[in-house]
Amino acid sequence: MLKNYMELIVDNLLPTILNEYKDICRCPRCIEDIKAITLNQLKPLYVVTEKGNIYAKLNELQMQFKADLTKEIIQAINIVSNNPRHSL
Ligand SMILES: [Zn+2]
Repeated sequence: MLKNYMELIVDNLLPTILNEYKDICRCPRCIEDIKAITLNQLKPLYVVTEKGNIYAKLNELQMQFKADLTKEIIQAINIVSNNPRHSL
C-alpha cells in the first residue's frame, strides 16, 4: 500500500495539538485546510507498507522531527483560524 508517511504523522499529531486550541473552528473544511497547508510545507515521504507497520514507526519518531512538525501544524492552525475559508 502506497502512503504518504507525512500525512499519517500529521493525522496522528493533529488531534493532540488541536486540544490546546479551544477557540478554533474544527469543521471538516478547516481541518482539511490545516492538513493541506501543513503538508504543502513538508516534503512528501512515500512509503510502501502493510497497515500495522506504520503505527509502529510513528512511535519511533525522533523528538526533533516531531517538534518541527508540531511547529508547522501550529502555523497552519494560525493561518486557517485567522482566515477561515467559509463564513462563520
Ligand atoms: Zn471551519
